[in-house]
Amino acid sequence: MTTLGQLVPVSRAVVRLVEAGSDATCRYCLAPVKFVARAKARQVIANVYEDGRWARVEHFHEDCYERAGHPYGEARA
Ligand SMILES: [Zn+2]
Repeated sequence: MTTLGQLVPVSRAVVRLVEAGSDATCRYCLAPVKFVARAKARQVIANVYEDGRWARVEHFHEDCYERAGHPYGEARA
């Protein structure tokens, strides 16, 4: 056993409001994650690490992240 595992960054997800001008695409349903002025739409932004290295950012509609089964853990506020 090694304790190094604790030092390796792991993928994590946060919930954020969708901002005006967002051009993100949902990783799950492949539809745009669109800003809607009145709706306060929320998205999940995941920082994905592979082999301990940052690989990419993925966006999800909040609902899609639920449907996808929280692939990068529970999204934190
Ligand atoms: Zn979606």
